[in-house]
Amino acid sequence: MRNELADVLGQRKLLQRLGPGLVHAFIFWGFCVLLPTIVIAMIGVVDRHATLPWLGHQGWYALLVDVFAALVLVGVAAALFIRKVQRPRRFEGSHLREADLILAWIAAIVTTLLLWHASRIALHLNEYSAGWAPISHALSHLFGTGAATRAAERILVWAHVLAIVTFLAYLPHSKHLHIATAAVNVWFGRTRARGRLEPLRFDEEGVEDDQLRFGAGAVGDLTWKQMLDTFSCTECGRCQDACPAFATGKALSPKLLIMGLRDQVFEQGAKLIDARRAGEPYEPPPLVPAAVTDEVVWDCVTCGACVQACPVSIEHVDHIVDLRRHLVMVESRFPAEAEPMLRDVERSSNPWGRAQSERADWAAELGVRVLAPGDPPPEVLYWVGCAASFDERARRGAESTAKLLAAAGVDFAILGPRESCTGDPARRMGNEYVFQEAARRNVETLGESGVTKIVASCPHCFNTLANEYPDFGGDYEVLHHTELLAQLLRDGRLAAGPGDGAPAERKITYHDSCYLARHNDVLAQPRELVAAAGTPVEMARSGRSTFCCGAGGAHMWMEERAGQINEARVHEAAATGADTLAVACPFCTVMLDDGVQSTGEQLNVVDVATLLAETLLPS
Ligand code: SF4
Ligand code: SF4
Repeated sequence: MRNELADVLGQRKLLQRLGPGLVHAFIFWGFCVLLPTIVIAMIGVVDRHATLPWLGHQGWYALLVDVFAALVLVGVAAALFIRKVQRPRRFEGSHLREADLILAWIAAIVTTLLLWHASRIALHLNEYSAGWAPISHALSHLFGTGAATRAAERILVWAHVLAIVTFLAYLPHSKHLHIATAAVNVWFGRTRARGRLEPLRFDEEGVEDDQLRFGAGAVGDLTWKQMLDTFSCTECGRCQDACPAFATGKALSPKLLIMGLRDQVFEQGAKLIDARRAGEPYEPPPLVPAAVTDEVVWDCVTCGACVQACPVSIEHVDHIVDLRRHLVMVESRFPAEAEPMLRDVERSSNPWGRAQSERADWAAELGVRVLAPGDPPPEVLYWVGCAASFDERARRGAESTAKLLAAAGVDFAILGPRESCTGDPARRMGNEYVFQEAARRNVETLGESGVTKIVASCPHCFNTLANEYPDFGGDYEVLHHTELLAQLLRDGRLAAGPGDGAPAERKITYHDSCYLARHNDVLAQPRELVAAAGTPVEMARSGRSTFCCGAGGAHMWMEERAGQINEARVHEAAATGADTLAVACPFCTVMLDDGVQSTGEQLNVVDVATLLAETLLPS
């Protein structure tokens, strides 16, 4: 209900860009107000002396009609100006001619309405005082009172009604189908955690093998919501504008992806239904490459910027992951460089392919308790994650977190060799089997260990443990390390100073991880830690509007084609004048540190926990 009121009625997402948002809002609100005039005009076609009971006689409604009809015309003119003069890049690939036709049609509907009302005022047929309708009243002076005006009144009402019914007939065949489906799509949009993927159910009882769903291979595999998504796309390009893959020159445009899928639904849907009715076999062509190329499917970093930007609740990430699921699990078709990662998650329980026995090496000299089977559970289990366990640069964040937790007197322990990859990279690659195996294994270990509260350093682990493991029986209180550290700071359990490692004047810009900020709304706590360690300065794109580091969606293990997302982000960070780029994710640490090295920008990439430890703890 909230989304329907805010996103549909309030046009919230569209109004995030005030100019184009107002243009759309004028047209949309105008049509809402003018809806009863369709009935009034249809009555008027039959009998010029009749109108809708009550409402047709209201002066205030005549005023509203005048004002909103004018606003629709202003909206149409402004939309044409944006499309024809400003020509923003987000419209690249949209059906522009069709949009022009639709705008002309809307202008015709509203103009005929105003002129019809004007001719009625001239003929004294208006059921309300003419003063209530100042625009129609002003236009009425164009008309006389004789036979010509009586004929004009008939022609105008017929023209108005014909414009409406032909528009309605055209609608289902055009991108403006969204007028009918968008509000429904928003209603059925996700209210579950944004970072959660819908699990494939391989083990559902009563489902025959040939009915199991392995992602989306052809039109018939799309869920009803995915088809509704495609019908609802307005081709506005807001998703494309927000997409880091598109911004860095990749083949992926989330808008063109949805349009490509819609073309397939329109082209193949009817054939598929006819064949099913006739009981004949029909194999629609595979969505990859009929709708999109392989490259498009693999360019996505699952950052969710497109989903957040979309005004009609289209869920692009679910589409892309479903396409990947089919390619990986049915066709074994995926970028070759990701193959070792999938193999290592399956066989070695971590994507680095390292021995699990080395997992707690970093913690040995810090004296961190490693939870053995049968040990009493700690107050908080510290879920270290594979990156911090095996990557030198990411490890510093884990060491700092452990030191801070110890300094604050938190009763914590790690699972060490019993912790294995959450399965996130395999899942985002499309290998649901490997993910579910990992999920079941970890849920079992956590259950046996009596764990109820977890703190995770990696936003990908955090998202999976908090939002996806409940689907597999794992229900825990899960915190990101920035949340717990901020709480300890607020509670006075981490006293300020005297750290001897922190530079006195540190200018810090904080990079929001997509899986922390956009998918899970953790925004304030990392900033509290940054503020405790130096002077914060924000990047142009921050908070929920952050720009990906380039590692999500298993891209940590894939070659990047075209421009580098991490370099684009590093340039943006350097433009703030900061000397330190704070991060709260081991993947971001690695990606942005690589970006600093390849661009030569003067920035130190440091986890917020390390910044805090340098500020508060003696070295
Ligand atoms: S999730 Fe991110 S990378 Fe993928 S299509 Fe959406 S905006 Fe682009
Ligand atoms: S998917 Fe959403 S944001 Fe993208 S073009 Fe379509 S309506 Fe606009």
